[in-house]
Amino acid sequence: MLDKFREECGVFGIFGHPEASNLTYLGLYALQHRGQESAGIAASDGTSVRHHKAMGYVNEAFDSDALAKLPGSLAIGHVRYSTAGESLVANAHPIVVDSVHGQLAVCHNGNLVNAGELRDALVRTGAIFQTSSDTEVVVHLFARSREEGVETAVVDAISQVRGAFSFVMMTRDRVIGVRDPHGFRPLALGRLGDAWVVCSETCALDLIGATYVRDVEPGELVIISKAGLKSIKPFAPARQSQCIFEHVYFSRPDSYVFGESVNEVRTQLGRALAREASVEADVIVPIPDSGVCAAIGYAEASDIPMRMGLIRNHYVGRTFIEPQQSIRHFGVRVKLNPVRSILEGQRVVLVDDSIVRGTTSRKIVRMVRGAGAREVHMRISCPPTLSPCFYGVDTPRRSELIAATHTLEEIRKYLDADSVAYLSLDGLTDAVRGGKSKYCTSCYTGVYPVAFPRDEAAYLQLALKLNPEPAKAETSAPIADLAKQIVVG
Ligand code: SF4
Repeated sequence: MLDKFREECGVFGIFGHPEASNLTYLGLYALQHRGQESAGIAASDGTSVRHHKAMGYVNEAFDSDALAKLPGSLAIGHVRYSTAGESLVANAHPIVVDSVHGQLAVCHNGNLVNAGELRDALVRTGAIFQTSSDTEVVVHLFARSREEGVETAVVDAISQVRGAFSFVMMTRDRVIGVRDPHGFRPLALGRLGDAWVVCSETCALDLIGATYVRDVEPGELVIISKAGLKSIKPFAPARQSQCIFEHVYFSRPDSYVFGESVNEVRTQLGRALAREASVEADVIVPIPDSGVCAAIGYAEASDIPMRMGLIRNHYVGRTFIEPQQSIRHFGVRVKLNPVRSILEGQRVVLVDDSIVRGTTSRKIVRMVRGAGAREVHMRISCPPTLSPCFYGVDTPRRSELIAATHTLEEIRKYLDADSVAYLSLDGLTDAVRGGKSKYCTSCYTGVYPVAFPRDEAAYLQLALKLNPEPAKAETSAPIADLAKQIVVG
């Protein structure tokens, strides 16, 4: 397991193509990096919505028989990594219901911060939940809405949830794309001939030969039907808080996310890092694949050559069987192997996009030293990761984030590096259009744009940051006192 934040989910939808479910399958393939636990597709032929979902990668969850049972010119799909709810097929998306407003299929990327409160209230009035997914709350709110018609019932349901959401929904005869008013998660709009496509990242458009048109805007709801595309903005406007980690790590570098090339942003982060934290060295080595774009930028700005001094084994899948303890010294070598001819006798700058716990980085530094490097300098193309995410990204507890509990010098010693430097927050936000005014940076600052309920576990996580002696915080500080210190911007 690499030491990274875990991706959230990927969503895809298409309206008006006879091969809708096959194209959705391909779109999910392109979005596989956003979730590997389960995959699902719902399709409609205009009369009814059918769906199939299963655990595993897209190619494990579907075969040609499963796709053949999903006819129609409308389809939506989802790849999931569970950020809320357990990893079970019942929690896989799409969630499909039959209600007084007709059938609705829902795919969600994000995390609803008030799902627990809403769920409790719904259960008290008789709702029976089938899953532990936060998304099911929206389905119940839709089914119970007293509004007339599908569109107004969808708006009514979504108006009651808070947090991060990019939804792709489908009824018998329309596909609906929605982005929360803060715009945490991406959602792109494209065209394939006369068909419309909505998806998390533009790499999915590229795979099916579709053209990127624009992003669904924060707070926008697009309804695609035989009448064409209708756009409405039914929610109160809010401060934009697009997830900057999409650019740092989550999204594919060949995607455009929030209207910008991920590759360009990442390369710019590397350039900025070289300007802020230069060091005398012979070679720049990316930690593949995550550090490659930033290393290219770092090499460009520092005028030091970049070489692939670490080679990644791309064929390590989930089926890798851990050997017995006695021969487990493979460590990170199963995934990465050093190239001695590049590293031996050299002063090496290792570039990566983030450090979460530091466990993998330490192994890599030692491996590079073992291959003969004279000096190893670690450079990270984002600021220290200090706080957990409550908006749809799986982060470890605060106590496990190395930067939350250690000084820079302690991190250097732990990693066994000659020096360590992170990019500054300004360096990060200057690399994206709109900077701080349009992006969420909570995992670097602890300033949260959307309040979340007084959930004990969440507050305990934050407490660790707010108390200068982290080890004591969980036992000594009363939650109510700590809660007063939480910053919600
Ligand atoms: S806290 Fe970090 S990972 Fe979560 S939405 Fe904000 S920037 Fe993204």
